[in-house]
Order: sequence, then C-alpha cells, then structure tokens
Amino acid sequence: MDVSVYTLGCRLNQCESESILDAFRKAGFNIVGENDLSDLVIVNTCTVTSKAEQKARRMIRLFCKQGSVVLVTGCYADSIGEIDSKVVVVPLVKKAAILSLPLHINTALESGMSLLESLKSFSDVKTTPFDYAASSFSYHSRAYLKIQDGCDNACAYCRVHVVRGKSQFLEEKEIIERVKALEDAGFEEIVLTGVNLTMYNHEDGGLGKLLLDLIPTLLPTTRLRLSSMEPDHIDDALIEACKSEHLHPHFHIPVQSASDKVLQRVDRKYSKSHLEKIISQLRSVKDDPFIACDVIAGLPSEGEAEFEETVEFLKRNQFAALHVFPFSPRPDTPLFKTKDKPEERVRDERAQILRELSTELTQKYLDRQLGKTVEVLAENRKAGLWHGTTGNYLKAHLIGENIERGKLYKGVIKKINQDLSVTINLI
Ligand code: SF4
Repeated sequence: MDVSVYTLGCRLNQCESESILDAFRKAGFNIVGENDLSDLVIVNTCTVTSKAEQKARRMIRLFCKQGSVVLVTGCYADSIGEIDSKVVVVPLVKKAAILSLPLHINTALESGMSLLESLKSFSDVKTTPFDYAASSFSYHSRAYLKIQDGCDNACAYCRVHVVRGKSQFLEEKEIIERVKALEDAGFEEIVLTGVNLTMYNHEDGGLGKLLLDLIPTLLPTTRLRLSSMEPDHIDDALIEACKSEHLHPHFHIPVQSASDKVLQRVDRKYSKSHLEKIISQLRSVKDDPFIACDVIAGLPSEGEAEFEETVEFLKRNQFAALHVFPFSPRPDTPLFKTKDKPEERVRDERAQILRELSTELTQKYLDRQLGKTVEVLAENRKAGLWHGTTGNYLKAHLIGENIERGKLYKGVIKKINQDLSVTINLI
C-alpha cells in the first residue's frame, strides 16, 4: 500500500512527518513522493497563517478527489471540521499516536476492514511529544531531531502557543543518544527543531548549555543546523556554542519588526537593541553567516515611521534573506479584532517592499560568497546534475566525481546563477 505525507508549515512539522513516514516504512508500506498518487495521504497542517489553513483545505479536497483516503493532523486539525467522508482527523495532541498507526492498519486489513474503517477504528495510545525519533528520512537528505515543543511566551498574534501548549523539552541525555543513533545511521547533517528552540530548558542553562555538552560527543564530520532561534533567549552560552565548526553558519531569527513600539504592542519579549546585539554577536563568531529572518508587514501600531525603522534595520544588519508575512489576524489571539492595524492595501504594499528588499539582500550576500570555500550537503540528482545546500544555506549545483546523497563535501563557489543558486566545484 502506498503512503505519502503532505506537510505544511515549519521544520518541526517536517521532522514529525518524517518520523511518521519512517514508522510506515518499517511496517512494510511503500513510501511515495508527496505529489504522487497514494492510497493514504497524511496531511500535516499548520495554523500560522490563514493562507496555510486554506492550502490545507484545498490539498485535502484534491487528495480525496484523486481517490486517496486522507488522515489530517497538525496544528490546524482541530479546526478542520467536516470536509469529506474520506477524511479522518487525528487532533494535534494525539499526533504522535500516528506512529503506532501502521501496525494497527496492518492488523485491521488482515481482519477484513477497509483502509478507511481501519483509520476510524484507531484508538488512543499513550504518547509524548518526543516519540518522533526517525532513523531514516524519505523526503530529506539530512536528519531532523525534535528537542523542544510548545512555548511559554504569548505573542499577541500567535496561535501556535495556543494549540501546542507550554514549553517542554527532551532530556539532554536522550538527545545525545538520539544524535549518536543518527550518526550511526550515516547522517552528516542534523537539524535541531522545536516550536521555540531557544526556550529549550531555559531555566537550567538553555540551548547553549545543551550544545556545549553535545558538541564534544559528535563525530568530527557531523554538522548541526538550528531550525529557528527566537531572539529573547539567545544568550552568551548559545553564542559561545555557535563558535563551533559543528554549527553551520546559518541562523534564522524571527525578528518580525525592529520597532520597539510594535514589538511591545504585540507582546514580543525583546527590544531592537537586543536584536542589534545578537546579530553582531552571531557575526563575530562566524565568517559572514547566512542570517535570515521572519518579518511581518502591517502589524498593529506599525505606522510609516515604524516600518521605515524596520527596513533600515534589516538593511543595516545585512540579513541574507527575509521571510515576509503580511499580518493576518488569527482567531483565538488577542489581536483578532484589533483596530490599530494598517489598511490591507498598505500592509500588502509593505510586504511587497520587503520581498523586493529580500531579493536585493540575497543578491548582495551571494556576491560576497563568490570564490569562498564552503561545505555542501549533496541532496539529489536531477537531469544528471547534483543539487545540494551549503552550510550557509545556499542552493547549489555541484560539479564533481563520485558524489553520494547525504554526504557533506567541501567546494569553491565558482558562479552565482540567475535563480540565486550557486555552482560549486567540489575539492
Ligand atoms: S515565541 Fe511567540 S510567536 Fe513564537 S511560538 Fe511562542 S508565542 Fe508563538
């Protein structure tokens, strides 16, 4: 039986999806690509934006129309309602139970049930948010390890902390063991993920301490990538850990706005001066790292002056890419009915300005990389050409011999391509 997972949203969702696929593979199911026709499609949803929710609904309907049975889970699952008779919903709090589903389906099918009946008869098993521990990954050449879930902040626009609940973390000893298992399985790059990664055990040393303990246990060739780092808990220990060669020179910071007025209005727990400090610290420990950020256009209280302040900050700090989100008020958040937000037309114009700025900043970053020696993970081969991603997060075409998927290589950036990828000669 063919199974696929369609994932929306963050790296944490991707990580959880890969563990689910791993469980199906181990139980004898055939894993197909997320765009291939499949008997069972698991849709792992996201509720960060209304666009992500609409896309989930659209894709669920499409998969049903194509004849698949669809299992819906993830941050938006609880709000999906009745959508199609071939859809079964597993609420977010029970998502990890899907790891036991493949065995249940096998038993149910043997007893003569249909696939849909088997999903409907699936009952609760006891789970924790850290049951996801895949040892193989279908859609990625790197490994993902979830070490944190939930969030104790309450940013006024965010639904994620509402649906995911309070911050929880995987014990350090268990992380060291799981990383070792991934190294033994041959992974050279591991992405550490969480809802709010820098909230990891922040009352007892935090993410910095974890990394400083983990790094000496790694094989010399292992590289780590941090999925996203909320600014408020980036501290000196974390900066110290980022000095290590084991940490790729790639950081993703959800900046959202660089105006103190806007940050306070939406209950973010840091100031522009803190942002300035951590960006300069990250720059001081790595050679021109790729620092990307999320930025929200049109947050409440954002006037022309606050928007200009953000644009000026992004330029001055030479971010390498901006992930731009137009503010869309989410149900169950304090800002759902706010009146002090810019008009939609103004919000959309600002989002467009930020997208254009992102392309400009990426181009400038790329220009600075020409001729540099970088590490690159070989990911897949299409039309005879190997593709990969560099340590500093550039999409790359690889020129070299005997390249293997999932292996890290060193190479020199020889060319910047029109699609903002680079061509690398392996050495
Ligand atoms: S830090 Fe804020 S935006 Fe991020 S998950 Fe927590 S509440 Fe949501």
